[in-house]
Amino acid sequence: MHEACGIFGVYAPGEDVARITFFALFALQHRGQESAGIAASDGKRIESYARMGLVSQVFSEESLTQLTGHSAIGHNRYSTTGSSRICNAQPIVVGSGDNILAVAHNGNLVNSQHLYQELCGKGYTFHSSTDSEVIANLIHSAPGQDCLDKIRYSMRRIQGAYSLVILTRDQLFAVRDPFGVRPLCLGKINGHWVVASESCALDHIGALFVRDVAPGEIVMIDQKGPRSFQEILEKKATCIFEYIYFARPDSIIDGRLVYLARQAMGAQLAEEYPVEADLVVGVPDSATVAGIGYAQKAGIQHGEGLMKNRYVGRTFIAPDQRMRDLGVKMKFNPLPGVLKEKRVVLVDDSIVRGTTTPKVINLLRKAGAREVHMRVCAPPIRYPCFFGVDMASRWELIAAHKSIEEVREFIGADSLGYISVEGLVKSVGLPKENFCMACFTGNYPIPVQLEMDKLALETR
Ligand code: SF4
Repeated sequence: MHEACGIFGVYAPGEDVARITFFALFALQHRGQESAGIAASDGKRIESYARMGLVSQVFSEESLTQLTGHSAIGHNRYSTTGSSRICNAQPIVVGSGDNILAVAHNGNLVNSQHLYQELCGKGYTFHSSTDSEVIANLIHSAPGQDCLDKIRYSMRRIQGAYSLVILTRDQLFAVRDPFGVRPLCLGKINGHWVVASESCALDHIGALFVRDVAPGEIVMIDQKGPRSFQEILEKKATCIFEYIYFARPDSIIDGRLVYLARQAMGAQLAEEYPVEADLVVGVPDSATVAGIGYAQKAGIQHGEGLMKNRYVGRTFIAPDQRMRDLGVKMKFNPLPGVLKEKRVVLVDDSIVRGTTTPKVINLLRKAGAREVHMRVCAPPIRYPCFFGVDMASRWELIAAHKSIEEVREFIGADSLGYISVEGLVKSVGLPKENFCMACFTGNYPIPVQLEMDKLALETR
């Protein structure tokens, strides 16, 4: 399961804005590993540089030196709409002269097909297959005296999940959709202003967290400092998977440290599904903290029964058949010395299609585990996501067409426990009304258009 992207923006005259952006993107690498890009403005021109690959592979001293100016935005991409191609890398730059702007987007629109056709009718041509380009062109074409007006107009037209950073020649904008589906926060560095998908990026560049950008808010930053404009406000619906899986554990979202939320999920699972066992193993890295939480609550020893190759980024080298056959072994290595003869509680963040879990359980058994009891931090996923999470279509979701007992049998576990929706909300520690949980409940915060709309965009 993958999320849509990491975004960052900085307005800091006199600072090396491209370098700051590079290090922020480096900290946001977990949000997308397909491509990375930076656009910088010096007040006259916007220069941009984007390539396929990890942040450290994309940029060199030379490419960063060419990105000069007083402000910059950056983007890490994991493809949601649109395939993995260089033309889909961001930031997207549209327009020219006074009306030039660069956009970096995290999220997914539900009405982009309609807007795409409208913009094509106005003579706009598209160079990518992303809904992010639809947003960029919509803002560019929007009526209004200035960019703020254009963004306001566009917010009334676009529907779905979007956290945006937008760069003009002399201003930086941070925009969060009215539901606040994706996170976005504001920080300060040496008296200047930055915005980032997650607060961990602020920590890494030495910036101070100031606050989350509110759902439906536009923050405009220029030489006068930041100004806030509260636009449309809908019922808040932050994606609860930010806490389960997407965000880094050292990020704070809406005042809650993700690490503590994950630890509480583990403890909650221990309460909901206790079992006699010798060892608790969290699937690294996303469920390591939840594993610790389970072990602490249950009073069972916590151990690292699986080692993850942490340096596997996304590779563009296709594995040969022999490597493909190794499958999950390329990612995880079990520790027989730790697992032998043990009754193991295996904690994972989620089960989506159910293709990986049986392989991981099999690895543990082959390494000597006597029993494997599966505990899952996400309730059964029965509905697809329309807000930018590359999950699966409904027929691919294992919990959509199998009972929990059938899933247990399929994955080969001795027992299986999914956290309850109430238990998950309690673990995150924020009001239930704050969250989108549509993939568990089917209650989408935005009326979802025909799935055909999304499919049509995907095949564009
Ligand atoms: S449907 Fe699920 S994955 Fe998608 S935004 Fe809502 S909670 Fe997140």
